[in-house]
Amino acid sequence: MRFLITNDDGILAHGIECLAEAAQPLGDVFVVAPDREQSATSHSLTLHHPLRPVQRAERRWQVDGTPTDCVMLAVEALLDERPDFVLSGVNHGQNMGEDVLYSGTVAAAMEGLALGIPSIAISFAGGDLRADLSHLREQVTVLTPLLQRITSLPSFPPNMLLNVNLPPIPADRVKGVKLTRLGSRVYSGSLKPMKDPWGRDIFWIGGGSISWSGDSDSDFRAIQEGFISVTPLHLDLTHFGMLESAGAWWPDP
Ligand code: MN
Repeated sequence: MRFLITNDDGILAHGIECLAEAAQPLGDVFVVAPDREQSATSHSLTLHHPLRPVQRAERRWQVDGTPTDCVMLAVEALLDERPDFVLSGVNHGQNMGEDVLYSGTVAAAMEGLALGIPSIAISFAGGDLRADLSHLREQVTVLTPLLQRITSLPSFPPNMLLNVNLPPIPADRVKGVKLTRLGSRVYSGSLKPMKDPWGRDIFWIGGGSISWSGDSDSDFRAIQEGFISVTPLHLDLTHFGMLESAGAWWPDP
């Protein structure tokens, strides 16, 4: 089994080390990751400057690009053979609800899927990484069996990626795995008005508070209850219900 591992927190991030360590017992691990943090870059591609891969060690490259760039470069240029799975993460912070639309971690898995490779995004749902760092470290012990289970399924459905969130609790208190749907989160107070050193108005996106809503089978509920959340996602954004109900808008000629 060959794993391509990437992330959006950069190749020096603690989480990508944990993921590589978790996947190591299951097969060959190749790491191609951004050379710096690329969180919230979503599915962006670098078009306006070239990409320069730098090999840091055997099977390990850093790239001056986005997570999506990394997956594309790895599969089409750096690896001798296609990976069996793309693993993205472990992200420093949750990727639940609408987060998946901004996340570079999830986008890397989307790129894997777009290239026809089964892909899994993995995030650690700890709010304060400094306080929760030891719990992230411990998650290696739950991640290896989870990855083993997922990668040994008789068939990994095509056109699907998995979005995994790990609860920020000690590994021995993790209650199990729940299959979930995306919840919904509302940020408030996350646009901070400030002044630059010259007294001009600037704004900084970040901070504030988050509230969640969603059904009992939502991703954030599973995390709150101490479960690992696994959400199957697909890339087709078509609103199929609307297609059926909106036929009256433009009746067939
Ligand atoms: Mn990140």
